Amino acid sequence: MQGEAREIASILTQMFEQAPTFMALLRGPEHRYELANPSYLRLIGNRDVIGRTVAEALPDAVEQGFLAILDEVYRTGETYNATGALFAMQAEPGGPVDEHYLDFVFQPLRGPDGVVNGIFVEGADVTERRRAEQERRESEALYKGLFDAIDEGFCVIEFFDGPHGPDSDYVHVSANAAYARHAGIPNVVGQKLREMVPAEADAWVARYGAVLRTGEPIRFQQELVATGRYLELAAIRIEPPSRRQVAVLFQDITARRQAELALAELNATLEHQVQERTAELVATGEALRQSQKMEAVGQLTGGIAHDFNNLLTGIIGSLEMMSTRLAQGRIADLERYITGSMGAARRAAGLTQRLLAFSRRQTLDPRPINVNTLVNGMADLIVRSVGPQIEVETAGAAGLWTVHADAGQLENALLNLCINARDAMPDGGKLTIETSNRWMDERTARVRGLEPGQYVSLCVSDTGTGMTPEVVARAFDPFFTTKPIGQGTGLGLSMVYGFAGQSGGAARIYSEVGRGTMICIYLPRQTGEAAEEEELAVVADTPRAEGSETILLVDDEPLIRMLAAEQLAELGYAVIEAEDGPSALKILNSANPISLLITDVGLPGGMNGRQLADAARVSRPGLEVLFITGYAENAVLNHGHLEPGMHVITKPFQMDVFARRVKDLVVKAGVA
Ligand code: ADP
Ligand code: MG
Repeated sequence: MQGEAREIASILTQMFEQAPTFMALLRGPEHRYELANPSYLRLIGNRDVIGRTVAEALPDAVEQGFLAILDEVYRTGETYNATGALFAMQAEPGGPVDEHYLDFVFQPLRGPDGVVNGIFVEGADVTERRRAEQERRESEALYKGLFDAIDEGFCVIEFFDGPHGPDSDYVHVSANAAYARHAGIPNVVGQKLREMVPAEADAWVARYGAVLRTGEPIRFQQELVATGRYLELAAIRIEPPSRRQVAVLFQDITARRQAELALAELNATLEHQVQERTAELVATGEALRQSQKMEAVGQLTGGIAHDFNNLLTGIIGSLEMMSTRLAQGRIADLERYITGSMGAARRAAGLTQRLLAFSRRQTLDPRPINVNTLVNGMADLIVRSVGPQIEVETAGAAGLWTVHADAGQLENALLNLCINARDAMPDGGKLTIETSNRWMDERTARVRGLEPGQYVSLCVSDTGTGMTPEVVARAFDPFFTTKPIGQGTGLGLSMVYGFAGQSGGAARIYSEVGRGTMICIYLPRQTGEAAEEEELAVVADTPRAEGSETILLVDDEPLIRMLAAEQLAELGYAVIEAEDGPSALKILNSANPISLLITDVGLPGGMNGRQLADAARVSRPGLEVLFITGYAENAVLNHGHLEPGMHVITKPFQMDVFARRVKDLVVKAGVA
């Protein structure tokens, strides 16, 4: 037994000596050290403590309240446990403080009488563990902070075996605050995929399952159908694979994707839109040109109305004179009045036709133009619109080159320039229209903003007020005007400028205050063959009828009908007259041989000329028809798009022109 006891004592001693935990045995109420193992001695800086009291050996421990605890344990006999208690120890007084965190126990020891006679101290230095724990807590806090702070949605999912097979479902084990924002699903933690979004679960399991199996991170885009969010996602496996966890970082890119789709859509339809806009622009451009023209016409009407009255006065006066002379029986020199009034009437007719032709032309149609011919054609209109106080002179260069431009626009531009000249000469003056061929070398072309080459210039100059340099600088601007409201629109010169540029040319202003202004339009020479000008049919002596063809003449205006009938009779035709459609139709449905139907378009009696012609052709197919029409009736005739064998002559017409047309048609009818 003794040997055994010794052996046990030896084992205990060894254990005591080698234990990683610190141990000490204190005796008596003063806690005098009886034993202390190496771990304990290391803890207290290897001080020599055996045989001394705690108060003597460890004054720093006393200070930190450990002695009081020992006293308490000794007095009450109750064990004292401490975890993570701080023990700051100085290896030598005044030296550096060494901080230790200790888990320990003060265990009272009792003698055979059951009375406490000592304390067993045993514990472990947990400073390292505590530090590690602290670090872990800090890194966890950091992680959590980041986790919740990042803008992207983040979650960790954990696979489990579901009814669909192993790893066929997953649960969300953690998710940051942004998760709900991006995915549109709140409180996701704890939710199982197949319960959450059953319809699309397979697709998500397939994606993340692959990451779990292979360890290959993925990045992809997918719609979360349940919430209509389009997401961009990245997923990585959390190691080790046995955790069956995958981390997912994602972002809602619905808006971006919608923008992309819209952009693609826009690209696809852009061409179409451009076409539409272009068409709109062309239409607007045409409307603008037309309104510019109508503005010029409006500016003209004042002058023209005046002129018209003059012409009418002449005609009426002549007629009055004639009727007076007839009443008096003096018929000798009636011819003078007839010639005079006819001339005036022809001029009036020419003027209206010119005005109508001018205001009617709409579409931009560049063709070869002889500018001299164009100017001459406009001269009458210009002279009449500027009034008698202004002298108009035209000087067309001989051998003028042909240009390629829209005639209607050029006429409009010329009129605008003349109207401006008129406005600049309120007290009268001289207006000159000049044309000439121009060779522009590098330098002169540059000054005018043109390519070097051959040009035709059309210049309008006046002896008017002139323009200051400031006005010159802005005159081409749209809506720039110095004229009072109601008189100027500021669009005239901008039209001139636009037209010249559009035609490959330019417009320039030369002006001096108090002396006058010259504005020139430069148009590039037409290269290649110049198209032939339309030759005006020369009316030679009027042909007479060959046989005794019959013409049906329908007009409700007795005077015109009478004049036309007389003219036709003089040509040798038999003429049947009718004053409206129904009576004409009666004749057409009879057996009378009729070579030609001449009819006014506007007719009373519920049937217009066009309808009459159609009705006539039911019983007489191929009947030649000649319509007499005013401008306004153009629409009835389908704007000149007529069936074969139907023709038009526009009122007013000269009788000899009329006779020639009739003759041609009767001959045609005879041949047919
Ligand atoms: P508007 O005639 O409606 O004013 P325009 O574009 O035709 O518009 O002309 C712009 C301005 O240029 C006129 O208001 C006028 O000040 C000036 N201008 C144009 N032509 C002449 C000219 N021949 N003489 C003096 N000033 C002119
Ligand atoms: Mg003007």
